[in-house]
Amino acid sequence: MAKQIMKRGRRPELMWGLGLDEKLKEQIEEGVGPGFHIKNFPAGSLPLAREIQQNEKPSAAWIPLSVWSNFPENHKAEYRNQDSTQRILIQDKQDSALSMDQVLAEGFLTVVRTPLTKPKIQDVMFRAKEVTSMYSDIYRMTEEIMLERELLARKTDQLMFLNKILASATESLEPATILANAKETLNLVLPIKMLHAAFWKHHESDVADVEIFLNGSMSPEIESAWVENIMASAGAMGSGPVNGFQILHTDSVRRPEYSLSPKDGKLVTMPLTAGNETFGCLALLCESGYRLGKDQVETFRSAVNHLGLALRNAMTFKEVKLRADRDGLTRIYNRHSFDERLVYEIKRRRRYNHDLSLLMVDLDHFKSVNDTYGHIAGDMVLQKVGEILTKTFRTTDLAARYGGEEFVVLLPHTSEEAAWKLAERVRKNIADCKFHFDNQDFSVTASIGVASVEGGALSADDDLIFKADKALYQAKNNGRNMVVVSGQKSAVQKAMQ
Ligand code: GH3
Ligand code: MG
Ligand code: MG
Repeated sequence: MAKQIMKRGRRPELMWGLGLDEKLKEQIEEGVGPGFHIKNFPAGSLPLAREIQQNEKPSAAWIPLSVWSNFPENHKAEYRNQDSTQRILIQDKQDSALSMDQVLAEGFLTVVRTPLTKPKIQDVMFRAKEVTSMYSDIYRMTEEIMLERELLARKTDQLMFLNKILASATESLEPATILANAKETLNLVLPIKMLHAAFWKHHESDVADVEIFLNGSMSPEIESAWVENIMASAGAMGSGPVNGFQILHTDSVRRPEYSLSPKDGKLVTMPLTAGNETFGCLALLCESGYRLGKDQVETFRSAVNHLGLALRNAMTFKEVKLRADRDGLTRIYNRHSFDERLVYEIKRRRRYNHDLSLLMVDLDHFKSVNDTYGHIAGDMVLQKVGEILTKTFRTTDLAARYGGEEFVVLLPHTSEEAAWKLAERVRKNIADCKFHFDNQDFSVTASIGVASVEGGALSADDDLIFKADKALYQAKNNGRNMVVVSGQKSAVQKAMQ
């Protein structure tokens, strides 16, 4: 009842008549009842089908066969191609009967024959309603399918994103590279301006060492603002008391876009966990005002988890490598690291053609140090020599324990002359060092062989070790505690007693 009242209160539904005569129009109005309004176009000025789309859409259009037959072909085609308005064909009772196939082929809903009685019209209207509701069902279903499809596409995007994170995070074992890659990949979901990270490692005493990876180098004030912020996050996430921290830059180039403080956007800090241990955190500076959808937040979380595991592996690898790269007694590089680095430097020298020098250092009469003061004293001397080597050279140089009481130093970009000077300094530093053991004072000396390949030289550079060794042998033969440069005879042997 209420429904009918509401219906009556509504605007009458629009229908079109295309070229109806007065009698037909009246019969249809009579048949459909008061809920409808028929707008009739005279046969001489029929609207084009596309006009259906404008203004109010008619739910149905009534067309006598005689009018339809006179439609120009292109006009007909246009009507056939639209399906929002049901077209009803009116056939005069004198006309020969049309087959239903013909009617449907022209895109009509149905055909009615004159005289247009009320039951006939009501029947047509009922069918029109049915078809319309069927259309709307199909439309709704199609919409649902589209929605499912979109959800599926989004899931696929998320999986692809996670896959990308995983692939790029496991591509490298360098935390700095992993972080740089991660920033790029995470950017696909969230616009990230900066991505910093901190990792902590507990010692037995339960204090932690923290390593901070900063995204790019920035001005000192901004850098300390970040460090303060990250250290506070680390404290809040369980790093505990901190022994000290070390800052590393994932991109050492200073760029204007890196001059952003923690306040220049939305700051998000996330813990990095493996198992139930938190070993680090990420600090992301995002565009402020950017919001993530719920499923995006989840995707982002699992991306960070993946990233955490990859970074954890990288940190463990770094630690193990550090142990494997160093000599247990002196803590300077071991022979294995030296061999690796030598191959690398020789390759680099071949490409860029710069100088490359090598020192071979051997302690003099070291056996007698052991014999006189004991093995422990000998070890102490070796440790001290390692320290002297570390202090004398730049970080781009590589000092290593080659074996026993023999050390090597690789000096890229260093000429023979400069290498000789450095060798002299090392020789002197060792000789000047006073040792004190068991109430006895003593000192040691070293002999050093120097070999170089200079820029532009065509000479073979893979016998550096052989040449340095030969020069060292010569230094020993000539009385020890001296530097001998390979290929140069006594004129350049610098014996300084
Ligand atoms: P030279 O001047 O000809 O080099 O004489 P040298 O005694 O130094 O040479 P030699 O090769 O005969 O002896 C090397 C000694 O170095 C023998 C060994 O006891 C000692 N040595 C090697 N490795 C270690 C170490 O790790 N600790 C200690 N304390 N001694 C070591
Ligand atoms: Mg020796
Ligand atoms: Mg030796």
